[in-house]
Amino acid sequence: MRNIDQALATAIERYRQANPASERIHADATQALPGGNTRSVLFFPPFPPAMVRGEGCRLWDADGHAYLDALGEFTAGLYGHSEPAIRAAVAEALAGGLSLSSHTAREGALAREVQRRFPSMELLRFTNSGTEANLMALATACAHTGRRKVLVFKGGYHGGVLAFAGGGSPVNVPHEWIVARYNDLDDVRARAAPHRGELAAILVEPMLGSGGCIPGEPAFLHGLRALADDCGALLVLDEVMTSRLSFGGRQALLGLRPDLTTLGKYFGGGLSFGAFGGRAGLMQGYDPRGERAWQHAGTFNNNVLTMAAGLAGLTQVLTAERLQALNARGDALRGRLNALLVEQGVAMQFTGLGSLMQLQPLAGPVRSADDLAAADDRFKALVFFELLARGVFMARRGFMALSLPFDDAACDAFAAALEDVVNVHRPLLPACD
Ligand code: PLP
Repeated sequence: MRNIDQALATAIERYRQANPASERIHADATQALPGGNTRSVLFFPPFPPAMVRGEGCRLWDADGHAYLDALGEFTAGLYGHSEPAIRAAVAEALAGGLSLSSHTAREGALAREVQRRFPSMELLRFTNSGTEANLMALATACAHTGRRKVLVFKGGYHGGVLAFAGGGSPVNVPHEWIVARYNDLDDVRARAAPHRGELAAILVEPMLGSGGCIPGEPAFLHGLRALADDCGALLVLDEVMTSRLSFGGRQALLGLRPDLTTLGKYFGGGLSFGAFGGRAGLMQGYDPRGERAWQHAGTFNNNVLTMAAGLAGLTQVLTAERLQALNARGDALRGRLNALLVEQGVAMQFTGLGSLMQLQPLAGPVRSADDLAAADDRFKALVFFELLARGVFMARRGFMALSLPFDDAACDAFAAALEDVVNVHRPLLPACD
């Protein structure tokens, strides 16, 4: 019987043979980009596909393959690849001229739309990415409290220089980090205790996104709120991914009011975006009319294309009802996929909330990054390459984010492809006890 390594090697070799144009594009890029890559998350060996076009929830690569796009640009592609209202708004903004060198009416309008959804963001400012939004939120917390220490979570991800998979990263910004276990208030309290008077902020995702779509338990997240108050620290809720879980993000679903919230991804309509905001008393520090205002510059903070695309998306497309339907579809799909895996006796599962999910190569409860320690990545890799061969694109790490055009037919197609993969490879996949 073939083993998992042989099956994976065969799948990868078939992928390589089928994608000569992508391989060439990647090889060319290695001359100027380390490993041919400028965005770490996208790379996987032997080389990632080079995409050339997208429409709705479909993608086409340089070798002419068409894919069902279940990745949705790691949540930034919420509107799909060709939403007419966004294309029209960008075209109109283009016609009005790029880089207008001053305020425009658009940034205030977009900020008001964000505020309408997230009342805890009494005042907010724009950045160019979620990373930058989190950097600014932490800078705000440090400036406000006069402290430097920040409590974060193992498996958390807040940006390229704010990454805590495995506990941290050599290229993280040099805050004084205290890294605790997610969904474990006792661990948090024990680690925070020696630093009580020095804690500037608790920075947390309401669901670990990159860390494996592990939902934060309501009691845990509310417990962090209480702990922050107790320590005189700010609670910074990173809703860069989870903001799509309802009209007002996961904070609205939980009745949780952070001091600061960070946003990113789809809010820019598919263009580069970030925002941070919260209590007016805090954010007022950035009011340039103040004598000692904090500086927050950024050439592209109000760039006309992002402002126009973001505004069109929020005002013309993303109603509360559509978001609710999208997340209900995600819940239904995740339930269906998990039922299929159980039925087939495969010890794998999809974790997540609403339209966000992650394939895990193990069964059982997943509450923190530690619960994934025993996960064998080869199983995820095999499913990934086999889905790719069937015209289905997800993240190599097993992450999926449904977009608005990802309809019931797309869900059926995804489930059918997964079922086929499981049928073909069941003896190689981890079995339920
Ligand atoms: N915060 C979370 C929860 C994220 O998932 C990400 C990106 O995946 C970021 C922050 C960083 O956002 P960006 O990639 O726009 O810098």
